[in-house]
Order: sequence, then C-alpha cells, then structure tokens
Amino acid sequence: MFDFIKNPVSQIDTWIIGNWKMNGSLLFNEDYLEELLAKIEVMKFDPSSFCGLAIPNVYLFQFSNRLLDRNIHLGAQEISSEDEDGPFTGDISAKMINEFDCSFVVIGHSERRNKYKESEIDLVNKAKVSLKNNIIPIICVGESVKDRDQGNANIVVRTQVKQFTMGLKSEDLSNCVFAYEPLWAIGTGKSAEPEDAETMHRIIRSEFSEVLGVDPAEKIKILYGGSVKSSNVEQYFLQPGVDGALVGGASLNASEFCKIIDKSIRTTQNK
Ligand code: PEP
Repeated sequence: MFDFIKNPVSQIDTWIIGNWKMNGSLLFNEDYLEELLAKIEVMKFDPSSFCGLAIPNVYLFQFSNRLLDRNIHLGAQEISSEDEDGPFTGDISAKMINEFDCSFVVIGHSERRNKYKESEIDLVNKAKVSLKNNIIPIICVGESVKDRDQGNANIVVRTQVKQFTMGLKSEDLSNCVFAYEPLWAIGTGKSAEPEDAETMHRIIRSEFSEVLGVDPAEKIKILYGGSVKSSNVEQYFLQPGVDGALVGGASLNASEFCKIIDKSIRTTQNK
C-alpha cells in the first residue's frame, strides 16, 4: 500500500509507469520477471523516482511478492468506482488490488474511455475511491486526431482536466498524477513533439492553478504518454513541465523498459 504521508506525490521527481494493456501470460510473465529482476538488481534508482508496472489484474498475484521492495511498484489498469463489496459483476475494487500491494491505478485511459464510454463522474469517483484506499490515481487525458485537426485539442484536454479539478478536493488533487496522452500517439509509433507535449502540460497546469494557485499547481505531476521508447524518452524528460512517462508497448520488453527507467532517472538528475 502506498504511504502518501511518508512519500508525498509532490516530492517524487521522476515517474515511469509501464502499462501492459491486455498482454501477458503466465509463461511470458515468468521470463519477463526473471529478466526484470536481474536488471534492476544492478540499476541505480533514485529515492525521488517512482517506477511502476500496471499489469492485467489476473497476474497481480504472480507479480506482487516478486516485486516487493524491488524499486518497481505494482499497479492496476482499472478499478471499480464502487468502494464497498456488492452486486457489481466483473468489477474489481480498490481494496482487492490493495491486497496485492498495488500502489497506483490507471484511470481514464483512452482505450477504456472509448470502448466503455465511462462517464466523467465515474472517472472522478474512481479517483476518489483509489485515494481513499491509498492508491495513486494516474489519470489520463488527451485529444483525438480529429480534435487536433479541428483546432480543439486544448479545449478538449482542458475540459477533461476540469472534471477532476471540480470533482476533487484540493488536497486530493495534489495526490493525483496526470498523464497527457494524445490518442493519435498511443500505440502508433507517432510520438508527440516534445515541445508540443510541453505546451499541453502548461495548459493542463494552468487548469490546476485556477483552483490551487500557481505554486501548488507547479507541484502537480504530469506525465507524457504516446509511443515513448528508450530512443526518445530523454527528449520528454528534458522539458521542464514533463515529470514522467507513461509507457505502453515498450514496457512489455523488460530490457527496453529498464533502459527507459535508467535514461529517465539520469535525465531528471541532470535537468
Ligand atoms: C499507453 O498505453 O498508455 C501508451 C502510451 O501506449 P504506447 O506507449 O504503446 O503508445
């Protein structure tokens, strides 16, 4: 379970979150874990960094003991907006994923927003439930290619962020992490220009400053996601407003994921 008091989100400088999406198998995971554990054994982690892997829930049991105290946090890709056990077939609660030492959960990933038409209020409730259970919500926002082509990217992203700035208390907002993930960059190999990501991060931050004030807004963590790999991750971390990366496809290769972690930590240290 994540300790928000001992490790305030605002004091963690480097965030690298892997999102496996619907990938993996018992056998694949064993090979991955073996390689990952061997590699992280000899890597230098910074205490002010947070590295995590969001895997399919069915594999949490396989991963949880193996990653305990190993510098890689375990996370889920989804939770129920319901906090108490009950008649919610197919849902998995924050309390359940807590039993497997999950520190974070991805909320509002575009692949889920699009497929399951989750309402904004449901997403805000998911963030509330995860915070109540000491799990960091990694909240995804981002515009489609159509939004961008029509010149609506900023307003679309602002509107998504506003749901959370209006729906959450200020102290809760400070414990959330946001991820800007333009839909056209997810899984396409077509990553956003680092300067464009920086510009959108500034726009997102300006939404926070409206409710929190400028200084607390500066401390909110915003990650970039969309075709991040070891060959481009440094460019994002060099941007002043980029606090981390949400990595999909590339996190499925243990060696590549470790390279991304290593480069991210080193780039932040030299910023
Ligand atoms: C993601 O799944 O959030 C993602 C950014 O995917 P990819 O890195 O594969 O674009």
